[in-house]
Amino acid sequence: MSKLIDTYGREHRNLRVSLTDRCSLRCTYCMPNDFAAWIPNDDLLTTNELLTVIEVAVEQGINEVRLTGGEPLLRPDIVEIVDRIAGLANAPRLTLTTNGLKLKELAQPLAKAGLNRINISLDTLSRERFKKLTYRDRFDDVIEGLDAAKAAGLFPIKVNTVLLKGINDDEAPALLEWALKNEFALRFIEQMPLDAGGIWDRATMVTADEIYADLSTHYELTPVDGRGSAPAEEFYINGTQATVGIIGSVTRPFCGACDRLRLTSDGQLRSCLFSNEEVDVRKVLRDENKDEAAKRVEIAARFQKTVISKLPGHGINDPSFIAPLRPMSAIGG
Ligand code: SAM
Ligand code: SF4
Repeated sequence: MSKLIDTYGREHRNLRVSLTDRCSLRCTYCMPNDFAAWIPNDDLLTTNELLTVIEVAVEQGINEVRLTGGEPLLRPDIVEIVDRIAGLANAPRLTLTTNGLKLKELAQPLAKAGLNRINISLDTLSRERFKKLTYRDRFDDVIEGLDAAKAAGLFPIKVNTVLLKGINDDEAPALLEWALKNEFALRFIEQMPLDAGGIWDRATMVTADEIYADLSTHYELTPVDGRGSAPAEEFYINGTQATVGIIGSVTRPFCGACDRLRLTSDGQLRSCLFSNEEVDVRKVLRDENKDEAAKRVEIAARFQKTVISKLPGHGINDPSFIAPLRPMSAIGG
């Protein structure tokens, strides 16, 4: 089968798979507390359907799959999904992004099933702030989840942090100190215009330059060479091998080296978080007039269609930019 190469020569090797749009938190930059526009249950891909799409993707050169959401650990069959992806021929490297709430019970089974690595999101070290930021009093569960990920050996454990002005933007150095002490790889992500509540505002977002400047007053940061297709700019800290990452999605776009495609939980392929087009594979999977082999051929063709439609960049900084119709939680972060 053909590789997934777009018209700008970028070869796609990374597939982000959203397992659900549901979530156990309501991070203000992602989902309003009263959010209710959920994807209907019947539209969510079944485990078998997911596996078919991922297998076709792997045959076309995808070698890393990141499970995400919404909150991927809310999917009742999460351990089975990991186990089956890890058991594929030419199994991709398998990672997962989670809010960590269910890791206390799931970290060990996930590691055993074949999960290679994990990203856990945490925006503050204050229990009170966590409650304000997420509308849920679950700070302790995240900390227990982080400990469980360590005990399960899911290294390197990356911690994702979004800073919001006037809420937690004074915590960057303290978060880094905490991460270093606990051997977590911290990455700050610029807030993007992808929230369901439409609260993003360029004028108030905390920029990569501001984060760098703040950290630099406390730490000596040395750029790490060889970023490749990684979203994060990494820096060595105080001359050690420990690093911190800054993902400047808005102010320092990294689209030129992007190798990511996305599959939503309702079976739509996307070439970019910010694209306004989706290519339907659920329809193919549920087409009663096609046998398995014909479905796989058509799904492969739809991957090619998706990759060919990919634009050179996300265009957030163009005056004509229109935010995608679906929020991050439905697309898969
Ligand atoms: N629920 C899981 C979690 O929070 O890790 C996985 C899905 S979440 C959408 C994936 C990542 O996207 C998280 O690290 C989260 O902080 C980040 N995120 C969500 N909304 C964002 C936004 N508007 N801008 C930047 N990052 C965002
Ligand atoms: Fe849920 Fe993750 Fe969005 Fe927070 S960022 S509301 S944990 S999907």
